Amino acid sequence: MDASSGIDRVGIGTDLHRLEVGRPLVLGHVTIPYDRGPVGHSDGDVVLHALIDAIAGAAGLPDIGEMFPDTDPTYKGADSGTLLAAAMKRLAERGYVVVNVDVTVHVERPKLNPYKAAIRAEVARLLGIVVDAVSVKAKTNEGVGAVGRGEAVACTAIAGLKKALGVSNEA
Ligand code: MG
Repeated sequence: MDASSGIDRVGIGTDLHRLEVGRPLVLGHVTIPYDRGPVGHSDGDVVLHALIDAIAGAAGLPDIGEMFPDTDPTYKGADSGTLLAAAMKRLAERGYVVVNVDVTVHVERPKLNPYKAAIRAEVARLLGIVVDAVSVKAKTNEGVGAVGRGEAVACTAIAGLKKALGVSNEA
């Protein structure tokens, strides 16, 4: 899909997970060396969770908690890449494709600069779009609040969608 040909819908998603020592830190499907990681029913990947909600929001699909309930043992320890793939299938059924996504990770430590390119490439691969259509930014919380104290990692994401040619929105 030509990203220059316009956007029909936009959606926003946010997520936050508590950090605990000894858990792997997975952000955008990339495992980052750190002594703590998110607690969650799945792998706690805030980037993919925020992206799923952004895409779902833009397409008018149910939110991530409704699509993949944390009471369902199927999703216990789930690779969030699998959840994103399932959401992308729902998106295709609704007749939309992702044009671009923009992601901001809120985390005090570790510094994400060395990992942004890898996260960007992996998110682009999972969404089936070019790396240029994926933005990954990182911010600290200036030492304030749960993120600032290093107790949590959070993410805000926005997605732009385009109606796929020849697919009815009513499908
Ligand atoms: Mg989550």
